[in-house]
Amino acid sequence: MNSVHHTLTILGATGSIGVSTLDVVARHPDRFTVYALTGASQLDKLLAQCLQFRPKFAVVLDEGIADRLQGRLREAGSETQVRCGEEALVEVATAPEVTAVMAAIVGAAGMKPTLAAAQLGKRILLANKETLVLAGRLFMDAVNASGAELLPIDSEHNAIYQVLPRAHREHPYAQTLADVGVRRILLTASGGPFRTRPVETFAAITPAEAVKHPNWSMGRKISVDSASMMNKGLEVIEARWLFNASVDEISVVVHPQSIVHSMVEYADGSVLAQLGTPDMRTPIAYGLAYPERVESGVRSLDLFSAGRLDFEAPDLQRFPCLRLAFEALRAGGAATAVLNAANEIAVEAFLEDGLAFTRIPELIESVLTECVSSCQATNLDQLLYADALAREAARRWLAKRRSS
Ligand code: NAD
Ligand code: MG
Repeated sequence: MNSVHHTLTILGATGSIGVSTLDVVARHPDRFTVYALTGASQLDKLLAQCLQFRPKFAVVLDEGIADRLQGRLREAGSETQVRCGEEALVEVATAPEVTAVMAAIVGAAGMKPTLAAAQLGKRILLANKETLVLAGRLFMDAVNASGAELLPIDSEHNAIYQVLPRAHREHPYAQTLADVGVRRILLTASGGPFRTRPVETFAAITPAEAVKHPNWSMGRKISVDSASMMNKGLEVIEARWLFNASVDEISVVVHPQSIVHSMVEYADGSVLAQLGTPDMRTPIAYGLAYPERVESGVRSLDLFSAGRLDFEAPDLQRFPCLRLAFEALRAGGAATAVLNAANEIAVEAFLEDGLAFTRIPELIESVLTECVSSCQATNLDQLLYADALAREAARRWLAKRRSS
């Protein structure tokens, strides 16, 4: 059998998902070739990755870093060419040689190159959930029009993809979930580090506590999102678009062990689940090799040491961010773009500027109330406008708090 081969651009190569992707790639040099690696600031890490994987291009955000990286690559005898800026990200995501793009930049910043790759019909390995939260309909329209292959990398969505009927996972907009006999999607959530912490102490949560996830090792932004359960809210929105599901067809199930990565319930009462050791290399390897299966380096699931699997209902009072995400999804239009932008500003202020953990949902709710009615969502410019407006409103909210 001929094995799948891909020439890859990895957007966000220096991050948690980027590093795990390169770990899988390194195990299969016959299958995967790296065309471009991108990173925002971690020069030493990107340098080492370029020397190991010898991409044609490396892309960074600013010129100073680009010059330094190019100099050090030359000294080391490397032929990798360094480019910089947003345009360069789009170029390496759309180059004709590239067959697959790992979208692993964090936040709305990842949207443009990911959308551009989708418009050109590449295989998209989608880790950057914010693209779908910001521009879900537009992105799925682009995928459907170009015939791009969209492989979800978020572990829950990857699990759902694996247990859906093939016709629906590959062409989710050709029919409804009900048409293929699916009753609902059960999206699992670990509940994060504060599932059982007394809620009266939430205002005292520190960034160090929030980024310490019990089961997964991830970037800082998604770790805070997991702690507030906004991550699950973003994932509900992500599932809505990936699988052509209505909000009522998606249920969140808290499962603290993160061993069941999600489930699909069928009309006959069957519930199919995907299980595994919590390690992102499993969904990454699945997405890279699809429809084949390859070694990922992930250790076997030890069910005996896991012992038990628990399930409970989510607590929307304890985690108002999850409620806000459901409300934004039901509101539709640009509401989820506003939610996402306000959340990015709130998380940054929590991590860098002393904003209390409990203020994160307060800020988001205030920005949603202020901005949603004045925003539309029929094209990309309108969505980018909603994103910018929400960021501005969030910054004003923060400035007002600081001065009062
Ligand atoms: P991370 O912070 O570890 O890495 C982010 C990457 O994006 C880095 O390479 C960084 O240099 C780059 N980057 C940051 N800002 C940028 C900008 N403005 N422009 C260009 N590049 C920029 O994040 P991560 O944990 O790897 O997550 C990446 C994405 O994958 C997020 O959207 C996250 O929600 C999603 N995701 C991550 C995990 C996980 O286990 N880490 C799981 C599911 C989904
Ligand atoms: Mg996830």
